[in-house]
Amino acid sequence: MKHIVIIATGGTIAGSGEFGKAAEYAAGRFSVEEILKSVPAIRSLASIQTIQLCNVDSNEMNQQRWIKLRDQIHEVAKNPQTDGIVVTHGTDTLEETAFFLNLTLHTDIPIVLTGSMRPATSASADGPMNLYQAVALAASDQAKGAGVLAVFSDTIYSGRDIRKTNSYKTDAFEIDHFGSLGYMRDDQVYFLNRSKRAHTLTSPFSDLKIEHFPKVNIAYWHCDGDEETLRALCQNAKGLVIAGSGSGNYSKVWQKTIHELAKDHLIVRASRVPKGIVFDSAFFDPDHDTISAFTFPAHKARILLMLAMMKTSDKEKIQNWFETL
Ligand code: ASP
Repeated sequence: MKHIVIIATGGTIAGSGEFGKAAEYAAGRFSVEEILKSVPAIRSLASIQTIQLCNVDSNEMNQQRWIKLRDQIHEVAKNPQTDGIVVTHGTDTLEETAFFLNLTLHTDIPIVLTGSMRPATSASADGPMNLYQAVALAASDQAKGAGVLAVFSDTIYSGRDIRKTNSYKTDAFEIDHFGSLGYMRDDQVYFLNRSKRAHTLTSPFSDLKIEHFPKVNIAYWHCDGDEETLRALCQNAKGLVIAGSGSGNYSKVWQKTIHELAKDHLIVRASRVPKGIVFDSAFFDPDHDTISAFTFPAHKARILLMLAMMKTSDKEKIQNWFETL
């Protein structure tokens, strides 16, 4: 039997509210051992060990908790008896943690994140099935070397591309034009695609010793956006990600301010539009002041920029990582 370690961090999957209701609950209340009692079938998939790393709403995930989670995964993965790891996590920021781990873990054993949209106390809670399928996927040989994965609503996602696209429904995640990696049918794994991008062992950041992150802020462009916002966000940060309109666009005022700030800041142009790709732009960035985010949304671009800044301040090199990772 495979040996799977579940590292719990909290989220709605551990949430508690009025019995039977799905609205108005508190995330991160039940321990992972309590959650497991609602899915006894998991014990027939693998032998299970649990670690309660923290028990928080995922909006409380932060750099310290990412470092702690990464260290904990490395510790568990070192044990030759570990076949795979499941991380339970709130859905709000699951994609940030998944992306961070995908780029920084130094292991090829299966790592699968999951969570739920309905609290454990609701009727038809979605957590138990998601957890069951996450354990099944983590125990599958097919998931080895596939990078950090997530399972949600019978679907397998890559840590690179998963995005929460629905704030309400149980089918809350999508990858959209990239295509999901596959489907689950109960405990059966059906991979359809594989990410061609570097991750885990092949990522340039998997050997990083991370103690703290450089500060990078995000500026969200909207009509009438003022230059003071950009200046304020750059005051205590060395990096800035712009969530521009369209293909990473903004006004002439922002363009002028970005040109000034780029002298001593690394600035990435991403887009607030969920689909598409941001390339360099002769019109909005004629002096090549910025790094284009390529396919990454602003919150993932922020993570990649922070990791890149731990290695270099060379803009070309960082641009290359945005295009190839
Ligand atoms: N606010 C919750 C969290 O991210 C939402 C969820 O888990 O669905 O922890």
